[in-house]
Amino acid sequence: MIIDCHGHYTTSPRQHEGWRTQQIEAHTAGKPPPPRPRIIDDEIRESIANGQLKVQRERGTDLTIFSPRAAGMGHHLGDATTSEAWASACNELIHRVCSFFPKNFIGVAMLPQSARVSPKNCLPEIDRCVNEYGFVGVNLNPDPSGGHWQDPPLGDRYWYPVYEKMVEHDIPAMIHVSASCNPTHHTTGAHYLNGDTAGFNQLMNSSVLKDFPTIKFIIPHGGGAVPYHWGRYRGLAQDAKLGLLSDRMLKNVFFDTCVYHLPGQELLAKVIPIENILFASEMIGAVRGIDPETGYHYDDTKRYIDQLPLSAANKAKIFEGNARRVYGRLSATIAKQSVATD
Ligand SMILES: [Zn+2]
Repeated sequence: MIIDCHGHYTTSPRQHEGWRTQQIEAHTAGKPPPPRPRIIDDEIRESIANGQLKVQRERGTDLTIFSPRAAGMGHHLGDATTSEAWASACNELIHRVCSFFPKNFIGVAMLPQSARVSPKNCLPEIDRCVNEYGFVGVNLNPDPSGGHWQDPPLGDRYWYPVYEKMVEHDIPAMIHVSASCNPTHHTTGAHYLNGDTAGFNQLMNSSVLKDFPTIKFIIPHGGGAVPYHWGRYRGLAQDAKLGLLSDRMLKNVFFDTCVYHLPGQELLAKVIPIENILFASEMIGAVRGIDPETGYHYDDTKRYIDQLPLSAANKAKIFEGNARRVYGRLSATIAKQSVATD
């Protein structure tokens, strides 16, 4: 089985994002939001059948761990109330996708975070998404201010309520920022990779992994700059008397394969232990074109893994086994959803 641990609903029906615009406009004008739009089942089915499901089939992958559009989370917009309503709407849509295509999609929640608002307000939505929707993880935004970094680092106790809830439900968090409202940080070209790198570094310089020995984090986009600079982080950990970096981090921190060229995947697989790498493509996402050097889509990351000089057993860990280990509820959910009719 090939499990893509990183996909977003980037093809949702237009009225969904349209409502978000109206919601924020109403908030800015001090008015109540309009009622949520009607989205019929067929619109959702079509948006997936002609989008992510079609690409899954073309590329030979089986299951996508699926969450709301990341740049659309917009935690810097509105306030805690608008974030709660928006997260609820987005997660409900993911649940509907997973209900229509239970063999192909399993949900991960976006959180109703808001800049400078305690993430305690996310706990009811996490409970709801796990208990009612059967979601298996969350996306945690380390910078709800959208590129201005106004909240405490991930090592701060500010975030501990979310970590306690993750451990309680045995769900990992993907450290994933949203859109940047800071023009110096392009959303997908800089802010995403900054978020990945900063998130890893914040955890490294904290006692989170000691305080929550079973917690699990996935650093997306190939780990940002981290694998490429593994020597720097090893050296920083050593200088700060934090011990061996691998001992300190690799029981709890994992990296996905959203790296869009073969040399990058080669480096990732050489530097990071196979046990810590999870297959992902983030299709249909930030980079949609075809690489003229290969003739294939940049985000067709399965092709790069296929080309790595690894044993079949190690490739199976990247494609399936590691995801089942990191997402503690995944295997049971796959078993349950594989007998559902679609
Ligand atoms: Zn993403």
